Amino acid sequence: MLLLGVAPSCADGRLRVVRRSAPHMGTVVTITVAAESEAAGERSIDAGFAEVARLDRLLSSYRADSDLSRLNAQAGAGPVAVSAELLDVTAEAIGIAEESGGAFNPLIGPVVRLWGIPDRPRRPTPDELARLRPLLDLGGLSVDPRAGTIALAMPDMAVDVGGIGKGYAADRVAALLRARGISGGVVGMSGDVRAFGSRPGGQPWRVAVRDPRGGPDPLGVVELTDGAMSTSGTYERFFEIDGVRYHHILDPRTLMPATSADGLISVSVMAASATRADGLATAVLVMGGSEGMALVERSPGVEALVLDVQGRVRASAGWPARKLDNTLQGGP
Ligand code: AMP
Ligand code: MG
Repeated sequence: MLLLGVAPSCADGRLRVVRRSAPHMGTVVTITVAAESEAAGERSIDAGFAEVARLDRLLSSYRADSDLSRLNAQAGAGPVAVSAELLDVTAEAIGIAEESGGAFNPLIGPVVRLWGIPDRPRRPTPDELARLRPLLDLGGLSVDPRAGTIALAMPDMAVDVGGIGKGYAADRVAALLRARGISGGVVGMSGDVRAFGSRPGGQPWRVAVRDPRGGPDPLGVVELTDGAMSTSGTYERFFEIDGVRYHHILDPRTLMPATSADGLISVSVMAASATRADGLATAVLVMGGSEGMALVERSPGVEALVLDVQGRVRASAGWPARKLDNTLQGGP
């Protein structure tokens, strides 16, 4: 994430911008707030990072003691009482799965594990992959919000909220900051950004979509007051097996790293919440440009900017046009 036009501690009237970055959830988290004093800003940022750490302890696939791992360990054994946060994020993930016709699938966990993502990458055999297919059946995942339980129908099924969890955390931290009386801020978790309120002086926050090819000009710049933007890309995290490069977003149809027919390498999605933006960005990357853009166009309040392997940039009808024009001058 790149936040433009706001130097830390730039003061305007009684508000100043306070910002800090720290490593969390396997990425760099940056919290920016408009606060009445440096000290007040720092205290809120401390509370924000504590919330990120708390959510990571609940939702991480990499921690054996997380609420998520505890749920997955009891797959096939009936409903499991889980935290409100895990219920919430799983319900959101199921919603995105339905919207995307299964391109987003929170039951991708066993496939991620079989590919050895991220630490011990290996190419599974077609047989090994085929054996996992029944574990991706979304009918086997049930969330009961009233009972506070989640059930996984088959042993070895596993929920993975990696495709949506950072956005969810960004939303939760933004809500916490707001509840503390902060009038505006931005929570950035690498590619997932949630903004609320405004900059000191009342202008919107400006967030750049970085060019994944490393070019100096951003692909786009968006202005956010209450809203979110997430970018998913095949370049963000990848691994090599026998000299072949694979990436970490898997296509639930093939159980292989997603390779859309039209070769998308980066998808940025704007939506009201970062949870939705994050989930939809992952979904559109799997679906590819035509199918993915069709989903974006029929989703109210959702816009997207996509880049394909040939360097072509495409935007949905409501993507802020002025910014895209600016961008294209310096783009491919
Ligand atoms: P993101 O960086 O938001 O695109 O999310 C990538 C992460 O989502 C991966 O590291 C996996 O944990 C998970 N994931 C991979 N493929 C899928 C998929 N098709 N549906 C849902 N989650 C996925
Ligand atoms: Mg995502």
